[in-house]
Amino acid sequence: MSDTERAAEKHAATPKAANYEDVMNLAARRGYFFRSADSYPNVPAGFWDYGPLGVLFKNRYVDLWRRRLVKADEMVEIDTAQIMPRAVFVASGHVGNFSDPIVECSNCHAIYRADKLIEEKVKHGIPEGLQDAEYDALLAENAIVCSNCKNSLRGTKRFNMMFRVGIGPLGEEAYLRPETCQGIFVDAPFLFKTQRIKLPKGFAQLGKSFRNEIAPRQGILRQREFYQAEIEVLFNPEKVDQEKFGVALEYSLNISHADAEPTPVRVSEAISGGIIPNRLIGYYLYLIQSFYENAGISTVDIRLRRLGDKEKAFYSAVAFDLEVRTSVGWLELVACNYRSDYDFRQHTEVSKSDYTVEDDGKKVLPHVFELSMGIDRSLYALLEKAYRVDETRTYLALKPSIAPLQVGVFPLVSKDGLPEKAREIYDMLRFEMDAAYDEGGSIGRRYARSDEAGVPFCVTIDRETLEEMTVTVRERDSKAQEKVMVADLADWLKARLA
Ligand SMILES: [Zn+2]
Repeated sequence: MSDTERAAEKHAATPKAANYEDVMNLAARRGYFFRSADSYPNVPAGFWDYGPLGVLFKNRYVDLWRRRLVKADEMVEIDTAQIMPRAVFVASGHVGNFSDPIVECSNCHAIYRADKLIEEKVKHGIPEGLQDAEYDALLAENAIVCSNCKNSLRGTKRFNMMFRVGIGPLGEEAYLRPETCQGIFVDAPFLFKTQRIKLPKGFAQLGKSFRNEIAPRQGILRQREFYQAEIEVLFNPEKVDQEKFGVALEYSLNISHADAEPTPVRVSEAISGGIIPNRLIGYYLYLIQSFYENAGISTVDIRLRRLGDKEKAFYSAVAFDLEVRTSVGWLELVACNYRSDYDFRQHTEVSKSDYTVEDDGKKVLPHVFELSMGIDRSLYALLEKAYRVDETRTYLALKPSIAPLQVGVFPLVSKDGLPEKAREIYDMLRFEMDAAYDEGGSIGRRYARSDEAGVPFCVTIDRETLEEMTVTVRERDSKAQEKVMVADLADWLKARLA
């Protein structure tokens, strides 16, 4: 065990828990993410920008998603248009159903979510999918009034949350996609025909989705334009027992029912107990839970919450939300839905195209199991879990494999040829990893800045570098220092960044 490792083990700190404001203040200060167009007054809520560190962090996360999910399971990744015609969303059900009940004050024209208003007043949840008249009855029954002007509220109506766009001079009706998966569904027949793909197969897509939320108040956790990474596993429902699914059988999933604390249940037991319908679904739940464990979230802070019949989407036969314990409560990061053949039946009916796939000589309408991931929320959760404060500093204990910058390179002082030597070492490293060069201020200040940005290693160039060709490497969490030969430096770092 090296000094660095010993010190890291001794350290193992989890001091006071972070809250949302602390994390978002750091995120803005260090250029992770911040409100969009913030130099203008009264900009609408729900739009966020990624700064330099945020982009590096997102890239690192996406790289992990590709390695641990897409490549690990031999999925195919595609990238489809963000604007799609109305008919696609008629088939998907979004034109008809993707709406929230709203009520407008007839006096001052303030707009409210009818369901949220009622829940706030009665202090418990109400069933989803009520009729407009049922909301009106509940508004009246509970004497709910406009918080601006105390006028009583009636006349619930629907607000569709898709962003409508007009194509060309005639403004042909189309929408910004509210989820990335519809592009996968509509391309599937072409891909099966041309790409020699066989069932079962995972199709992955990552990109922006758009939802016209009525009044988003949860900062980066509820945006109108956001990053999604979706995986749609297409399969023959008669064949859910493939050999590769067997690797998950002994793995423990952290399953919870309703809002209870999770209990570890082996995949094999979850299947025999009827919690999970088959091996295929057990295998993909194992992939997604182990993905977050690998990203640095400890197992006790992850749960797969099985949704009840009232909570899950109407097309969903079985649904789990992967949630992570945060300061704002259990935060949903991935919706895991067994969508049966709903999507392909709908697209077949509306498009009149053939969505069946050949499987061992038979035509099959594929079933779909989906892992629909929110990227921005996942990044927030990782930052919050990594946030540490001790007596002297605030730092992000991100795993080196996911940290946006992997190494900082500092000359001890800005003279005597040290900056030139440090630049040389920085130039050697920056093509092999994400490195930053900093010669501003005292070495202590530079360490502090880099700790706050989550940089796992800092390399200091001093007089000994010129004389003995060694540098001092400092590890972020333990602050332990180690001398490393310049010639070995890149390999030394790479061995610790995986
Ligand atoms: Zn009013």
